[in-house]
Amino acid sequence: MQRIHDTIAALATPLGTSAIALIRVSGAESAALASTLLGELPPARFAKHADYRDKAGALVDDAVFIFFKAPHSYTGEDALEISCHGNPYIAQRILEDLFNRGCRPAEPGEFTQRAFLGGRLDLSQAEAVMDIIHARSERALAAAHSQLRGSLGRRMNALVEELLGALARIEAYIDFPDEDLPREDRALVSAAVDRAHHSTCQLLATSHYGEILREGIQTVIIGEPNAGKSSLLNCLVGRDRAIVSEEPGTTRDFIEECVQISSHFLRLIDTAGINPAPQPIERLGMEKTLERAEEADLFLVVLDSTRPPPLFPKQLTERFNQANTIVVLNKSDLSDFAFTLSEPLASLRHVSTSALAGTGVDALKDKVASLADDLQPNVGNELIAINARHAHALERAQASLEAARAKLENGGPVELLASDMRAALEACGEIAGRIDNERMLDQLFATFCIGK
Ligand code: GDP
Repeated sequence: MQRIHDTIAALATPLGTSAIALIRVSGAESAALASTLLGELPPARFAKHADYRDKAGALVDDAVFIFFKAPHSYTGEDALEISCHGNPYIAQRILEDLFNRGCRPAEPGEFTQRAFLGGRLDLSQAEAVMDIIHARSERALAAAHSQLRGSLGRRMNALVEELLGALARIEAYIDFPDEDLPREDRALVSAAVDRAHHSTCQLLATSHYGEILREGIQTVIIGEPNAGKSSLLNCLVGRDRAIVSEEPGTTRDFIEECVQISSHFLRLIDTAGINPAPQPIERLGMEKTLERAEEADLFLVVLDSTRPPPLFPKQLTERFNQANTIVVLNKSDLSDFAFTLSEPLASLRHVSTSALAGTGVDALKDKVASLADDLQPNVGNELIAINARHAHALERAQASLEAARAKLENGGPVELLASDMRAALEACGEIAGRIDNERMLDQLFATFCIGK
């Protein structure tokens, strides 16, 4: 993706039949192209309705053209957007014509990469564009918007400023190898390193939440066979997905469904029943259930309230707590809950439901939403949730800061301390995108969709 002087074109809407399809062009030739197609260059940001005729003069469609003058476009370059009828054949004809006229097909993410290279967005903002496209809940969208508006970039800038200030103090002594840092400077540098370290820890603590926002809250439904787990999953999803059967142990493989509850996006996983005396075939399902439970963020423990609860394996119960588990007393239509729960289930949150009649499901959703609300880590007043790339860079920054702190405590050559600080700075710089590594940039933008 180094040919940044080319004028690129791509379909920005999905390939398929729709009311409208949008073709995007960006680069230096956009103005000349708009003039040729329309007979004259329209004013910038003005919607011009005109025929689209190909190079041979054949009518392809009537379309709406909008010309954007640099730097006031998404990419920061001259750009042209063409809205045609949403017929893949028409869109393809227009694209082919644009290629005949000298445009090159855009690679995935190339429009956003140009916005980044042109300084319109920092790298964390470019990634936020992707998060906005993929957000599947109010929270995920809010976090993506906040990142696009520079929340993470600002946090990183403050961190970089802190480290630069400390480094400046250290570097003043590098030319005097025999002199140690004066005590006063050492204390200031040490305080800066501690603050920076605290900040990296805070940001790293949002990493799992970032995963939750992007992938969904892993919510594992657990209970003995026939407790009503599948019926409950169907109630939560709002349609029949899981097989409901009177035969115990029917859900041997996992059924996974995505669902939105309040402002959250959850991945509901219906597991094989926990059976204290499993058949060999059930044993495998139970082992898999325990594996899934290891990665779960939330648990819905479904009990058949007409029967005493089963004994759950310790491996599971030691993961249950007030913050991640709801005990669902199902089949409330058949019985008033007639026995007392023992620990650890007794001290967890409860809700009574009838998956058959649909009662209690709203109360369950409210409780789930409240646990999900509390999964969001507190990082000041902005919603920040870093991604895996940020986490990787921050872990490196953290390790360098820890090395710097050890040198501050034990004494040691000032140059080595400076080198740790520089390594921390470099790692922090990668998040907002002060990166010289072109290959890494290409890889990152290649994960975007074409036309974005
Ligand atoms: P699973 O094995 O835990 O997934 O349980 P299922 O969802 O397959 O349900 C087992 C049986 O219990 C089915 O016959 C369901 O119709 C029934 N069932 C599930 N929930 C309720 C409920 O709330 N009340 C009553 N009366 N029956 C239920």
